[in-house]
Amino acid sequence: MTNKIFRAGLQLSLAAVSLSILFILLSLYSYLNKGQEDSLGEEMKLIETGLALNGISYLESLEKGEIRITLVSEEGKILFDSKGNKETMENHLHREEIESAFIKGIGKSQRMSKTLLEKNTYLAKKQKDGRVLRLSVTTISMGGLVLSLLTEIAAVLLLSLLLAIFLSLRLAKNIVKPINQLDLDSPNKNDIYEEISPLLSRIEKQRKAINRQLKELRNKNDEFLQVIDCMKEGLILLDKEMKILSFNAEAKKFFDVGNEWIGKDFLNIYRNLDFIETLEQAALRGKAKYFAEKAERKYQFNISKIESQNEFLGLVIVIFDISERLMAEQSRREFSANVSHELRTPLQSIMGSAELLENGLVRKEDEADFIGKIRSEADRLLTLIEDIIKLSHLDEGKGFEMEAVRPAEAIKEVLGLLSQKAQNAEVKLFFEEWDSVAEISGVKQMVTDIIYNLCENGIKYNKKGGEVRISLFEEEKMVRISIKDTGIGIPLEHRDRVFERFYCVDKSRSKRNGGTGLGLAIVKHAVSFLEGKIELISEVDMGTEVIISLPKV
Ligand code: ADP
Repeated sequence: MTNKIFRAGLQLSLAAVSLSILFILLSLYSYLNKGQEDSLGEEMKLIETGLALNGISYLESLEKGEIRITLVSEEGKILFDSKGNKETMENHLHREEIESAFIKGIGKSQRMSKTLLEKNTYLAKKQKDGRVLRLSVTTISMGGLVLSLLTEIAAVLLLSLLLAIFLSLRLAKNIVKPINQLDLDSPNKNDIYEEISPLLSRIEKQRKAINRQLKELRNKNDEFLQVIDCMKEGLILLDKEMKILSFNAEAKKFFDVGNEWIGKDFLNIYRNLDFIETLEQAALRGKAKYFAEKAERKYQFNISKIESQNEFLGLVIVIFDISERLMAEQSRREFSANVSHELRTPLQSIMGSAELLENGLVRKEDEADFIGKIRSEADRLLTLIEDIIKLSHLDEGKGFEMEAVRPAEAIKEVLGLLSQKAQNAEVKLFFEEWDSVAEISGVKQMVTDIIYNLCENGIKYNKKGGEVRISLFEEEKMVRISIKDTGIGIPLEHRDRVFERFYCVDKSRSKRNGGTGLGLAIVKHAVSFLEGKIELISEVDMGTEVIISLPKV
């Protein structure tokens, strides 16, 4: 812009100076011309009078000056010429001014010299005797004038050029300076040129629109980052050069890096040839999977290609922690193996006893024992199958309807079911909060199963004369049920494992008591289904307390 203004200023100044010079030259030229013409007229009057009085001798007596005097006869012959040789001069009848003087009485004309630097001005007048008196003067032509003033003109032009450069530069700078200092953050506050106000208003409008769009984009980006940060899976976005565009909190945790890695090469974080190959495959085929292990946990990477209009834009990597899934698969496999083993044992025992009886190999007096054994093993088998069915229902987690359940009612029901068992084991059952109306959100049968299994364990693993105390506490959001016995307790090393399926601290005691090793597994599952918590406090030979907290309605 500075350049443009500078050039325009310079052109304008030079044009103005050139025009002025031209005008001055023209004025000067016309002034000179007019002076000459006037003086020719004056001279004509004087010489005419002298010629009329004294004839050609008057003309001859005149001193040779600037004015050339010529006298031409009616035939065009030169009778007198103050500067030329009249004998050698050609006939002048057809000279423009002379011809005109013969016709109109007076004639004027101008002719350029050969060099064009000079100009002859002629004034001819017809005399009373018919002859024509012609005066002429040589004056400078326009070209000659320009040539004679060339140095001055050049000097003026040069000076004007320098002045124009200096002034144009200053002008351009002065115009541009406030524009350069515009505060574009608040365009409307600038008060410089009225002419650029519409432009500034437009900039202000666009600035507001851009700010609004930027804010929206930032909000969307923040939303996106917050959403991906809430994901429990790791997420990484890579551009086509494998540079990190974004990654979420889980991914950062996985690779143990921070935001400073955004924009950097992902392959520098995770240098692994197999992985790099998998990325290349994903870029080629669209999808690929990769498995990794870290801190004893197993991870699956799902890599997908991002494309737009057939153009490869980058990759998205989602990292899943599959340890739980693999463990669940493993425990399901183990459970199936355990189930078949646990079912086979009582069945084999039943079949063995039945075979002996069938073949008459049992003495008469032992028959009742064998039949009793068959019955107790069948009982155990039934309990086992019932527990397995309960567990598989809980595994599926379907078909249960949540309702308001009063734990006090469930406890009373369990006490009724277990009173005979407690009597046989010489264990006393206590429950004091008979009137509690606290309600939890759950499934009645599930709550009853939880309390039944815990109370039954309290009886089974107790000592003669021992007791099982059931307490109910109502809190702001939860109901706590404590089942505390005075039994044999659970050794520390077993405490974490007793909730596993088929886990028994003492297999033979458990079997003697009709245990299946599934009771606490059912309790754990049911409590987690009801979104509650379990606490186990135990001391060997002193007793065990299990506290269940379940959310209130
Ligand atoms: P089981 O059918 O064998 O009782 P559980 O899953 O109910 O199976 O319990 C698992 C194991 O935990 C039991 O075999 C027992 O050794 C131990 N156990 C459970 N409850 C108690 C308790 N109240 N006192 C002592 N040991 C217990």
